[in-house]
Amino acid sequence: MSAKIRLYVEQALGQGQPVPVSRDQAHYLFGVMRLDVGAAVALFNGRDGEWLAQVTEAGKRGGALVCEAQTKPLQLPPDLWLLFAPIKKARTDFIVEKAAEMGAARIVPVQTDFTNSERIRQDRLQAHAIEAAEQCGGTFVPEVTDLQKLSRLLDTWPADRQLMFCDEAEAGSALRLASETRGKPWAILIGPEGGFSEAERKRLHTMTEAHVVSLGPRILRADTAAVAAMTLWQQALGDWK
Ligand code: SAH
Repeated sequence: MSAKIRLYVEQALGQGQPVPVSRDQAHYLFGVMRLDVGAAVALFNGRDGEWLAQVTEAGKRGGALVCEAQTKPLQLPPDLWLLFAPIKKARTDFIVEKAAEMGAARIVPVQTDFTNSERIRQDRLQAHAIEAAEQCGGTFVPEVTDLQKLSRLLDTWPADRQLMFCDEAEAGSALRLASETRGKPWAILIGPEGGFSEAERKRLHTMTEAHVVSLGPRILRADTAAVAAMTLWQQALGDWK
């Protein structure tokens, strides 16, 4: 028995564990996808790996599944945060989706001096991260935090967390990501469409944990920059081996 559908649930998963199906999940599983009693679904909750489950009750407003066997252990991504300044809605959604697919452990929208948006819908962004994990076979879901002020985040920056500062003013200079920082906690920082202010740049350049990085001779849009930076980091220091 193998499952075509992967579903994120909040409940604990384990051998013989029953999992109740919510109204929304019932609508999707039994209404949209037309599954019936006996059908297989792959479940994950971000903590217990992936489990093959069988439908034991299929109703319009609810139902039940039971876990049969673990199909994947929990696989945690490297300890990498993606800090980015939210941009237009569709592009922000894209950044969150790609960050979850590419293996970010935490996604942190930051308000910088030139950030365009003052507000984000954290719950909506978290739902995008869950959907991305469902479709890419991940067993972990990165937390999407609420919008935080970059200056405040830097005030209390954890001493051992390295920061890959993608600075458009460095465009064209060589990329340096020292391999002796492999295995350490890291974060990537991507600015907004307006780029970083001089005050931010000055501060970031003096931080001992900051590694100033160029993403090539052309200025990339923030969503492109986020994907490019994660690719470089994963290739140099991450779990793409
Ligand atoms: N308006 C700015 C560009 C901002 S691009 C300007 O014209 O200078 C949005 C973000 O993507 C930047 O803040 C930076 O974090 C990243 N980025 C884009 N291109 C880059 C490059 N070539 N090198 C490093 N970072 C880059």
